[in-house]
Amino acid sequence: MAAVTKSYPLRAPCDEDFHRAAVVSYRALSARVDAPCETVVRFARESDSTTGETLNTVYSVSSSMHIDIERLGVHESVATVFPARVLVDSLEDLPLEVDAIGDGEIGACDAVVTLEYDDAMLECAWIHSIQSGVDRFPFETLEDEDTILTNSTGIHGQSVGETVAGYLLAFARRLHDAVANRGDRRWEPPAWDEAFTISGTTACVVGTGTLGTGVADVLGSLGVRVTGVRRSTEPLPEFDEMYANDDLLEAISDADFVIATIPLTDETRHCFDAEAFAAMREDAYFVNVARGSVVDEPALVEALEADDIAGAALDVFETEPLPEESPLWEFDEVIVSPHCAGFTRDYGPNVGEIVRENVARLERGDDLQNRVV
Ligand code: NDP
Repeated sequence: MAAVTKSYPLRAPCDEDFHRAAVVSYRALSARVDAPCETVVRFARESDSTTGETLNTVYSVSSSMHIDIERLGVHESVATVFPARVLVDSLEDLPLEVDAIGDGEIGACDAVVTLEYDDAMLECAWIHSIQSGVDRFPFETLEDEDTILTNSTGIHGQSVGETVAGYLLAFARRLHDAVANRGDRRWEPPAWDEAFTISGTTACVVGTGTLGTGVADVLGSLGVRVTGVRRSTEPLPEFDEMYANDDLLEAISDADFVIATIPLTDETRHCFDAEAFAAMREDAYFVNVARGSVVDEPALVEALEADDIAGAALDVFETEPLPEESPLWEFDEVIVSPHCAGFTRDYGPNVGEIVRENVARLERGDDLQNRVV
């Protein structure tokens, strides 16, 4: 038996609508558990900042509910990244039953660790995503059903950082050409002015979370000057200079490499569009290790066809697997990798550490690590 506290910070006039909302929240929580929720409602008076009148009552509702996690399922969809048994084995000492499960067994679990989303998971009290990006999950429905969602951010910085360094080194040292030539047994050194070194170049990293800082860290160690783009302009030690999202075009206009590491949200969808590719230098490379839909793919293809940019390394696509008929397969200066920038043989155990920590937090009634919903 484990406890979890849900807080509903509510601030509303003391009217009927608010009371209805609080009661609905309480009912939603109660419906999930056998024992009634322990609910604390806090009240306070506040002054209207314009009139100075004491008008409103400020509320916050915290409900401690007990979640019984007796069976945790590792869904078969994790096999895209690692065998389910690797995670099952790494969690075998937990005080609950941990099993590899298929679709038909989701309903028999209290919690599930998964790559894919399935509506049947709404029956579980807790879903843990083995990915950092949770754009495939229906946040509102999860909220309505009081199903907790946690993600795996925090584990991909070094692996994705090294993958991105690999792409940059391949372009600079012309290694992708050597790999392509091997298929034809062709001995063809690069032209005298094709190869360069990445030390002294500038990379602009758009998105400064785990991925962005991991990329900045690895590239910085190779002598690359790294600038960042984030919602605020607060500096971060891994970056030489920071830009705000609103200054994206200025930030990317002088970079040798532009690297997308932002989550896919309504605001970031297609943020790399025709205007962004036009703003980039003609000798600059674009790298996407975030999500396919942060890029307007037809605009990228046009920019590549028109030589508006030098090339691209792409790990993620609007449609995955990348369809055979996609023009992106055809460019010599495009590296395509199958959504594996974060892969490492330690992936399963790394996810296991987050799950283990959260099982312990549930036991203690503490807030969960990496909680999204
Ligand atoms: P984090 O949560 O650590 O970081 C995301 C960062 O993006 C935040 O720090 C935030 O920075 C910024 N951000 C959040 N929302 C917005 C927004 N609306 N506009 C601009 N910036 C925003 O996530 P990760 O770094 O772990 O992962 C980032 C994304 O990379 C994932 O969502 C996933 O899609 C993708 N990914 C891909 C992998 C692969 O194998 N290719 C592996 C892992 C992740 P700030 O508040 O400073 O703006």
